[in-house]
Amino acid sequence: MLLEYKGKILIIDIGLRFPEENMLGIDYIIPNIEYLKNKEKNILGVAVTHGHYDHIGAIPNLIEKIGNPPIFTSSLTQGIILKRQEEFPNLPKLDINVVKDDSKIKLGPFNIEFFRQNHNIPGTLGLFIKTPIGNIVHTSDFKFDKNPLNDLPTDFKKLRRIGGQGVLLLMSDSTGAEEEGHSLSEKTIGENLDEIFKKAKGRIIASTFASLLNRIQQIIILSEKYGRKVCIEGYSMKTNIEIARNLGYLKVKKGILIKTKQIADYPDSKLTVLCTGAQGEDRAALMRIANKEHRFIQLKKGDEVIFSSSVIPGNERTVQILKDELYRQGTKVFHYKMMDIHAGGHAQKEELKEMIQIMNPKFFLPVHGQYSMLVNHKEIAKEAGIAGQNIVVAENGQIINLSREKIFIEKKTVPSNYIMVDGLGVGDVGEIVLRDRQMLAEDGMFVIITIVDRQTGKVKGSPDIISRGFVYLRESKELLAQTRHKVINIVNKAAGSGGAVNWVYIKDEVRNKIGQFLFSKTQRRPIILPVVIEV
Ligand SMILES: [Zn+2]
Repeated sequence: MLLEYKGKILIIDIGLRFPEENMLGIDYIIPNIEYLKNKEKNILGVAVTHGHYDHIGAIPNLIEKIGNPPIFTSSLTQGIILKRQEEFPNLPKLDINVVKDDSKIKLGPFNIEFFRQNHNIPGTLGLFIKTPIGNIVHTSDFKFDKNPLNDLPTDFKKLRRIGGQGVLLLMSDSTGAEEEGHSLSEKTIGENLDEIFKKAKGRIIASTFASLLNRIQQIIILSEKYGRKVCIEGYSMKTNIEIARNLGYLKVKKGILIKTKQIADYPDSKLTVLCTGAQGEDRAALMRIANKEHRFIQLKKGDEVIFSSSVIPGNERTVQILKDELYRQGTKVFHYKMMDIHAGGHAQKEELKEMIQIMNPKFFLPVHGQYSMLVNHKEIAKEAGIAGQNIVVAENGQIINLSREKIFIEKKTVPSNYIMVDGLGVGDVGEIVLRDRQMLAEDGMFVIITIVDRQTGKVKGSPDIISRGFVYLRESKELLAQTRHKVINIVNKAAGSGGAVNWVYIKDEVRNKIGQFLFSKTQRRPIILPVVIEV
């Protein structure tokens, strides 16, 4: 998101989007920044609200392209950004400036005051932006928490002071807009986890997101309380813990952490394994443990596995399979649905309404989350007393025009299509490559190599066939024999008369006719790659 006033630009967050299930092989998606081309000089800075990847993840890909403008963020977010930057050694040094609760900065027409927000990662900052046409509040991802863990409770007095200065536009987190009531306090979650720790006799294997630092802290505190040593599994979790610990955001008593290879030295009742993989991710620690691929940790009866994170839509099946596997090996599983051992980090209906009432803005723009959440958030705002015509539900690429008097979506849009990142390639995997991948995944591929005599235009010998993911060739001899026969006929017919041969035409013929033939025999549509070699 960016704010622009008389050509001067303030960027808020530079995040990534995780790929959808059908985006095979895509690592992540980054924003299209075509609109910012040749505007580098006018970009005054980037305010980063917190350290989650959907708010910082595209910085390595994009920051140089927008002229490496200064970044303003909390010390923890800075640590996470810099750690990620290490994976991209060729980039120029980032210009990061640490700000905190109450910090004020002036960037051209934007006077920004940062204010602390509660979320499920420490160091989250909301933005109070004074502009020449009025005050804008950006909540960041947030929830209200009166009993947070290792963090200060929500400062309602301060929020009221901000609201009291007059808010022209409120932009608020919509992620929890479809959830009734109030998000759980971290304290309640801690009490539920405590019950599990109190009763557990075997090892506790607790999996969560590497970025859910509050949850990680809780598990460490409970392990300390019940005399358990903690070993950490998963690269991202290790690095996040290291960063947060160095900056004082995470407190761990001396001697609590042990190396994984030391676990055999302690009784099961004195061990906690804190690991990644609660989403059923392929290579994450929990999956490797469940699949018996882990060097030091094998599951056994009596182990208690805690999933302490909600399941990202689309991952339900993978998580279910993982859960089944854990039960099969005799472990006890606690899932967030069974008891409240995970609270979303996002304000729910009641809190969202309260935020709107505190800020009492003239205009309202729901941000963050899926479209349905934005629309639900609009309904909440109406209940909170904002007039319908003063609320705008916008999608990526749309330009919102804001003045003292009115807010509306402009007719023109800016490019906002997905830019997909696959390995080192950025944007080179487009719709066509993706469609190929989907076809390959569904029906496999079928390569036909035909050797043709240049003089006679006739096929020499029998065409070679290579296939992957289509049919098992050894068991499909009949089908292959018929296919070879057909290929010879097609090529001979198309090239038969000698003279100048149109190879493109021949390949198309092979592709189409063999495609139809294979479909009629198998009801499958593999990708067909005809190769014709002249000799
Ligand atoms: Zn977040």
